[in-house]
Amino acid sequence: MIDAVVIGSGPNGLSAAIALAQAGCKVVVFEAEPTIGGGVRSAELTVPGFVHDICSAVHPFAIASPFWRTLPLAASGLEWIEPPVMLGHPFDDGTAIEVERSLNVTAARLGRDGDAYLNTIGTVVKHWPRIERAVLGPFSVPEHPLPLARFGLQALRSAEGLARSAFKNERTRAMFGGIAAHGLMPLDRALTAGIGLTLGAMCHVRGWPIPRGGSQQITNALTRHLQSLGGEVIADARVTNIDNLPPAKAILCDLSPKPLLQIAGHKFPRSYREKLERYRYGIGVFKVDWALTAPIPWRAGECRRAGTVHLGGTMNEIAASEKATWEGRIVDRPFVLLSQPTLFDPSRAPVGKHVAWAYCHVPRASTVNMLDRIERQIERFAPGFRDCVLARSVLAPADIETHNANLVGGDIAAGVTDLRQFFTRPTWRNYSTPVKGLYICSASTPPGVGVHGMCGYHAATLALKQMFRT
Ligand SMILES: Cc1cc2nc3c(=O)[nH]c(=O)nc-3n(C[C@H](O)[C@H](O)[C@H](O)COP(=O)(O)OP(=O)(O)OC[C@H]3O[C@@H](n4cnc5c(N)ncnc54)[C@H](O)[C@@H]3O)c2cc1C
Repeated sequence: MIDAVVIGSGPNGLSAAIALAQAGCKVVVFEAEPTIGGGVRSAELTVPGFVHDICSAVHPFAIASPFWRTLPLAASGLEWIEPPVMLGHPFDDGTAIEVERSLNVTAARLGRDGDAYLNTIGTVVKHWPRIERAVLGPFSVPEHPLPLARFGLQALRSAEGLARSAFKNERTRAMFGGIAAHGLMPLDRALTAGIGLTLGAMCHVRGWPIPRGGSQQITNALTRHLQSLGGEVIADARVTNIDNLPPAKAILCDLSPKPLLQIAGHKFPRSYREKLERYRYGIGVFKVDWALTAPIPWRAGECRRAGTVHLGGTMNEIAASEKATWEGRIVDRPFVLLSQPTLFDPSRAPVGKHVAWAYCHVPRASTVNMLDRIERQIERFAPGFRDCVLARSVLAPADIETHNANLVGGDIAAGVTDLRQFFTRPTWRNYSTPVKGLYICSASTPPGVGVHGMCGYHAATLALKQMFRT
């Protein structure tokens, strides 16, 4: 007899299953794809022997996840690698800003912006233990209202507004803008400062690490732990209608609204169905993976020690790129996010060889090939990059959606994370639905995008309370 079914084996699906299994439930996870992990998988996308991350690559929220911190994932094979520099942000003059794990070292390198860095990102770092629950959970009565109110006032601002008022140097503003641009929104929008502050603080709270062997190792560790609790994961088992599932007290869907409606829409009252239909997906991404014969020849030495490199030059350029993309235009110089894991984890490529991972934002469902534009951005800061390329793999928005039905139009956040949709993901009900025992546990619920498993954990906690009275 099954107690609970989870549809989808992304990090949130697996986390929901683990939380349910920990409470003694018999859980089965059905995964549509032949491989487990959703947005947390690795594969030899280019040449045999080169292990690429298909989706997530850098994992600040995974190492900091309040739920995963309680799990024996190291014993299940997960090993974190912390690059010496979390983030490199190069400029056209051949120099770069580097963000290190140490808050004080990073601030000291920012010259006259050092104090402002400590007052903004540093304050979030200092108060993180008190605001973590509010940032990584559903809306609730705050335990520590004062630090949260202070964070909230800054977080609600736009990244451009905060950067221009807090920092004096264009370089610091650009670095902050690059971090905030992870939010897939124009940087003049409310709440984009919050993305920059939170993600920036993570550099110093637990770092921006990579898992040894690639992101698949996170999935493997979660799956092993689930299995040790008696849970089961069945791959290549797409659910096409929830009526066909084996009987269970609770069904948790690691799905965004569109695929959820496809399999369960007929169960919902019209008003709820319409709310899900109105859920807004955001811009997409165009992703490239490279097999390389040598490390990327960055002009700025700092970037050779960085796990992640942001390519966009100035704040103005990054802001213009994000705004144009949001408005449906293709830019010639897109903001590019790049990860270079083999500098720190040689196990992922043959001796002396490397892999690199990068993407830029594009209008939703765009069909424009961005490969040349992305490579030109890399060449701009690392002349000779193209000479190192052995092979490439390209994922356009349509490929991303094909590969994972949650990511409509290539939107890797499974829905816009703006003020309107932040607390009411995907509706004001968050995890629950009007159907008793049916829950949503994907990144389309709070706290949203990222590899942390907290959406799954919160959905499972609610299901346990309502359906299993634990
Ligand atoms: C290109 C890219 C880069 C990213 N980079 C990062 C990063 O560096 N760091 C970071 O923290 N996050 C990153 N993310 C985001 C992160 O991957 C997601 O936020 C996260 O995976 C969401 O987890 P989830 O469990 O909600 O859903 P998903 O990981 O999307 O998993 C959902 C699962 O449900 C399955 N499914 C769908 N429909 C069905 C069905 N009908 N039946 C059965 N199974 C079904 C899917 O196949 C999938 O396995 C990236 C995402 C992408 C796409």
